[in-house]
Amino acid sequence: MPYLVTIGLEVHCQVKTQTKMFCACRTSFGDTPNTNTCPVCLGMPGALPVLNREAIEKTLLTGLMIHCGSPEISKWDRKNYFYPDMPKNYQTTQMDLPLCIGGGVPLYDHCYPTDHRKNIANPNKTVRLNRIHLEEDVAKSTHLGNSSLIDFNRAGTPLMEIVTEPDLESAEEAFAYVRSLQMILQQGGVADADMEKVSCGVTSIFPYAKGGGSVRPKSGA
Ligand SMILES: [Zn+2]
Repeated sequence: MPYLVTIGLEVHCQVKTQTKMFCACRTSFGDTPNTNTCPVCLGMPGALPVLNREAIEKTLLTGLMIHCGSPEISKWDRKNYFYPDMPKNYQTTQMDLPLCIGGGVPLYDHCYPTDHRKNIANPNKTVRLNRIHLEEDVAKSTHLGNSSLIDFNRAGTPLMEIVTEPDLESAEEAFAYVRSLQMILQQGGVADADMEKVSCGVTSIFPYAKGGGSVRPKSGA
């Protein structure tokens, strides 16, 4: 085979908190639409956001579990872009000083696809992380024919964005990474990581291959 797969992943995961990232609205799933809202998460002018201590602590705990470092100073950044279900038209997120830097996620044997477990190409592999930063989720849009419905209950929910280095070399490793990460987050009590409720998901797959493809030639090939 003349090519090597080289993949990095971004996973967004809802932090397990009672309330949203910058206000006291509940984060519970399945409530009547637009009942868990306030001037802060609706982006009203003059509203004053207040950080959610539990979200910060659980993100730092996640970093401790997977051996990340944390800078002495962390800060928030304003990312401006138009998004139809984001009332502020900017997202409060973290850019150059996230809560967690480095670290790694071990790929557990039992997290590989069943038919692959006896033939693991790189046993005991650890996937290096670039960072974990905290940010807020947008609202939820549902499109029905010519109309769109919007539910702001999810707007402002705390999300961890967990970003790897380009260490994954096959679909099986990507599978094992997501399952291993899910297990760590669930066992640590920092996230439900429940795919049914879309509280966790892969949002970006970004190939680092030189030349712009999703694969790069094997050295010497
Ligand atoms: Zn609110």
